[in-house]
Amino acid sequence: MVESCIFCRIAQDNLPSHKVYEDDKILAFLDKYPLARGHVLIIPKAHVSNIDELSGEDAQALFHTLFKLTKAVQRGLKTGSTTIGINNGPDSGQEVPHLHLHIIPRFPGDGGGPVHAVMRQRPSVNDEEMLQITKAVKENISA
Ligand code: AMP
Ligand code: ZN
Repeated sequence: MVESCIFCRIAQDNLPSHKVYEDDKILAFLDKYPLARGHVLIIPKAHVSNIDELSGEDAQALFHTLFKLTKAVQRGLKTGSTTIGINNGPDSGQEVPHLHLHIIPRFPGDGGGPVHAVMRQRPSVNDEEMLQITKAVKENISA
């Protein structure tokens, strides 16, 4: 629990929220300033800033909740599409430094873009760099 963290305070019931799901590890609630009707946030109750700090157990619990809630949100909001995302770290535009998954319902003609819209241009990466990047990622996979 981090006293200054708004999502920790929500998890502790010290700030009001519209909860849609809760278990011992996970909480999900409506985004207060939604990008669409039914915009849901899922958090681990234990404070971590980003995925790097997340335990394997909480990662499993988080994804399992995402799996359940995506279907519930889509059925509840009567749509077949959602955009799912994490702003993971300050350079990604993360504003609340307590890890959270966004489930954003999508509707025909809603004016939104795909996740690719987060970047305006694509870097050109040559074959040699692709190989180096592949190696760098593979070498850093941990349990
Ligand atoms: P991010 O930029 O990924 O850190 O997103 C933070 C999200 O938290 C935004 O979509 C905000 O609308 C949302 N938010 C901020 N304060 C609250 C709050 N008190 N209750 C629910 N959602 C909030
Ligand atoms: Zn927190």
